Amino acid sequence: MVQKKLPFTKEQLEAIVSEYGTPFHIYDEKGIRENARKLVAAFSWAPGFKEYFAVKAAPNPYLLKILKEEGFGADCSSLPELILAEKVGLTGHEIMFTSNNTPADEYVKAKELGAIINLDDITHIDFLEKHAGIPEFISFRYNPGPLRGGNAIIGRPEEAKYGLTREQIFNAYRIMRDKGVKGFGIHTMVISNELDPNYFIETAKMMFELILELHQKLGINFELVNFGGGIGIPYRPEQEPVDYQIIGQGVKKLYEEIIEANGLPPLKLALECGRVITGPYGYLVTRAIHRKNIYKNYIGVDACMADLMRPGMYGAYHHITVVGKENAPHDRIYDVVGSLCENCDKFAVDRNLPEIEMGDLLVIHDTGAHGHAMGFNYNGKLRSAELLLREDGSVELIRRRETIDDYFATLDFSRL
Ligand SMILES: *Cc1c(COP(=O)(O)O)cnc(C)c1O
Repeated sequence: MVQKKLPFTKEQLEAIVSEYGTPFHIYDEKGIRENARKLVAAFSWAPGFKEYFAVKAAPNPYLLKILKEEGFGADCSSLPELILAEKVGLTGHEIMFTSNNTPADEYVKAKELGAIINLDDITHIDFLEKHAGIPEFISFRYNPGPLRGGNAIIGRPEEAKYGLTREQIFNAYRIMRDKGVKGFGIHTMVISNELDPNYFIETAKMMFELILELHQKLGINFELVNFGGGIGIPYRPEQEPVDYQIIGQGVKKLYEEIIEANGLPPLKLALECGRVITGPYGYLVTRAIHRKNIYKNYIGVDACMADLMRPGMYGAYHHITVVGKENAPHDRIYDVVGSLCENCDKFAVDRNLPEIEMGDLLVIHDTGAHGHAMGFNYNGKLRSAELLLREDGSVELIRRRETIDDYFATLDFSRL
């Protein structure tokens, strides 16, 4: 079993907690940058490779700025996400707009920014033309329908609401070609939180073959293929991270066999991963405030499901370190719970942990993606702060915690 490590010592963490209070999410800049460089290195062979960070995973401009410095773009799917990308100085083809069921104003903004627009449906051609006009470059999201495998989070493609069918995609590119579009991209995303690199290589094969067929049937050249996100992370200590080199080399071989061997022009490769980019480098820090022994033994902490929804919503495993007790015997069994009036508000169920005393700090691992981002205010819960652990060891507040005034900001009590 791999020991899941923390990027700070107990003493450093106690100093951070005494300044900012609990709970908070803290992100490790060094870890994020090293990981980003590994991903880019795995695709250094690929012409114009770009990772577009899926903003929804961690929509904080300070994190986006770090990723921009590492050469990443942004993958957005809403107006506020487009604005966040714009605020950090991303423009044009540095922004991928992969939305679905898209409101008109979002297409208008995406077009204004010159973003790459991935249309999610064939009917969106007319919708886009009417509201924003047809851009010079267009991409469609492909839904391949029944596939072998598939996985639990994203479900089976034929049951997913995303993308165009195989038949539609040929028509869609024909229509766009006839409307005078000059640049073409194509997108798919069929997996989520997947640790097996072969799925990504399979996806590349499917897409390269489709591009070849589209080229042969319609006479159009593709400039860009986007394999979406979905690379998983080792939430459990016994899991291994995905080796980007295996994906990079597997895709390279197929690129040579399908794209180059058939004389197709160079194709830029894109990914829009979120989870694997920041997920492992975020930590939710919370304090034990109650111990309750009834039919089971509970540890109540000062964070709740509003700070991290994944365990309650999907039953997802998030590793927990009791700070300073890493090497103590893990001979207790606890449910670690928040304060929401929902019984699913549990960060861990029947977890083997060391004996926890009131005041102990608990670190919940792998909260850097879909963690704070999925926060909510149900039950009057206020979202926690976000901190950034800089490479030099200093700590910066990159989002303050919510206040009661924030919670009431949309109410007008004067008209009661
Ligand atoms: C969520 C999402 C991603 C990112 O997925 P991860 O699992 O975080 O890598 C990428 N593209 C689209 C369209 C998405 O909806």
